[in-house]
Amino acid sequence: MSPCDSFPFCFEILHRSSRSRARVGKIRTPHGTIDTPNFVAVGTNGTIKALDHATLQDLKLQLLFCNTYHLMVQPGTETISKAGGLHRFIQRSLPLITDSGGFQVFSLAYGGVANELKSRGTKKREGSVLKVTEEGVLFRSYRDGSKLLLTPESSIQAQKEMGADIIIPLDELPPYHISKENLILSLERTHRWEERSLKSHLQNPKNQAIYGVIHGGIDQGLRQKSCSFLSSLPFDGFAIGGSIGKNREEMTELLSFLTPRLPQEKPVHLLGIGDLASLTRLLPLGIDTFDSSYPTRAARHGYLFTMNGTLDITKGIYRSDFSPVDPECSCRTCAHSHRAYLHHLFKAKEITALTLCTLHNLHFMIEWMAKVRRAICADLL
Ligand SMILES: [Zn+2]
Repeated sequence: MSPCDSFPFCFEILHRSSRSRARVGKIRTPHGTIDTPNFVAVGTNGTIKALDHATLQDLKLQLLFCNTYHLMVQPGTETISKAGGLHRFIQRSLPLITDSGGFQVFSLAYGGVANELKSRGTKKREGSVLKVTEEGVLFRSYRDGSKLLLTPESSIQAQKEMGADIIIPLDELPPYHISKENLILSLERTHRWEERSLKSHLQNPKNQAIYGVIHGGIDQGLRQKSCSFLSSLPFDGFAIGGSIGKNREEMTELLSFLTPRLPQEKPVHLLGIGDLASLTRLLPLGIDTFDSSYPTRAARHGYLFTMNGTLDITKGIYRSDFSPVDPECSCRTCAHSHRAYLHHLFKAKEITALTLCTLHNLHFMIEWMAKVRRAICADLL
């Protein structure tokens, strides 16, 4: 029996590299297929900033990551539900993934790992998170200051109303600087929350798949424990969450330890990593999908990816450079605009610059991942 007989959701591995743990596969969902490994663009509010969905369709962006927390606050899941779900609300026909909302609640509170590292862990839990209890997390809306309670059940309920193809259980995002004792308590609570989320999902699967999120910080023993526990539950795939290290070396070491311990027949997603230097290190480990806002955010700041490295189009050296961003790129921006024009648009603060540059970087990521898949199929990676 092919794993794809279990439609609507399935993961099929088409080729395993003889050189590494990298594999090429397909994730089938009710809204289409995702070729893996692949890059997942982040459209926090139901859009990639500066691009419309018709353009994403032309670019063949196979999976878009939307953030439940932001969509719950604005426009609210009731409105999305009234429209007939998130696909209809944002008018996208291809696959979507939503998170639980937990990541944003906690990361807005801590300001992210980078900021936390700068503050050396002195920043306490303040800001939007008011209280974390067994029931869930009470936080203050960034929009109007109202108090909201996010529980495993309410997060799943919100994700049911939105109806993305892949959903994520509620987890706690502990800070990088945390004592082992508190990390254990957080991991145990996250496991209970994920179990409750799964139970709530299974009462009404609605053709959605749910990925368990592996936690345990940078402690290998706890990561192992998280793999063992979560892989004993009927999740459709796994995501790797939480702090995975303060630099690429620590991240690579942790993920090299972790990936062989995950069920090999299920898809593996890495949350929040999508820069090329990290992907180059992590693809041989057999991770199937990566989401990151980095390529689109970099584009909005004028950092454009090319096969010869990243260029900063805002620099003066591009003022009279009439060549395309990347002569090897077949995107619409490279076909119709040159570097000097893009440089000018940034200097003139024209919002068209953001559209043209975002389109190029997304196209670059999509093509780059297609090249990766070909390299894995040829056992070159
Ligand atoms: Zn281009």
